[in-house]
Amino acid sequence: MLDLLLPQRCVVCGCGGRQLCTACREGLPRIEPPLCARCGAPTAWPVERCRECAGRRLAFASARAAVGYDAAARRLVHAWKERGLRRLAAEVGQLVAERLPPPEVDALTFVPADRGRRLERGHNPAERLALELAVLWELPCVPLLERTRGGRQRGSSAAERRTVRGAFRPTAAALRRVAVIDDVYTTGATAAAAASALRAGGARRVEAVAFARALRRG
Ligand SMILES: [Zn+2]
Ligand SMILES: [Zn+2]
Repeated sequence: MLDLLLPQRCVVCGCGGRQLCTACREGLPRIEPPLCARCGAPTAWPVERCRECAGRRLAFASARAAVGYDAAARRLVHAWKERGLRRLAAEVGQLVAERLPPPEVDALTFVPADRGRRLERGHNPAERLALELAVLWELPCVPLLERTRGGRQRGSSAAERRTVRGAFRPTAAALRRVAVIDDVYTTGATAAAAASALRAGGARRVEAVAFARALRRG
């Protein structure tokens, strides 16, 4: 409710008017082809696998994100997730639907929040984004995963890889083709662990879709 009462300010630049002003919205970095077919990293030319994902076992068929995770995207995600500015979920959903084609899947699902974080925030950002996208893309959204243990990691990539392996299990039989929604794609370890659990639950093909993606330089 808080965001209804506060004066509207852009969460990125602070200017008055809207929670995400037009300039900041347009300025969010685009992720444009050529991309790695698998992990969605921008590459010099189209490749099946890139330096970032080569040799890794990734249970998803492809990963795509709407914006690059720069400082502005980080501020937006922070406000959306931590400050509970829930109307930003609609804004974020619009951005994803504008910038990415709908995945060719039977249903959307989402990366589940760990219980502690969900209680703390009162919402799971990935779930809210999945619900927004379900409307925009006219696809069902079904909860299919749960966490096997707490501790959704933050911090280093190595820590993420260690922590998330085996972090999820299927709660229902997955549909044949599923897209798993998350807020940010960092190393891909979370998406891979979620996809692996969905495939264990019966999915044949899993696509990962995130709002923002960490971009490596050089
Ligand atoms: Zn702004
Ligand atoms: Zn790649």
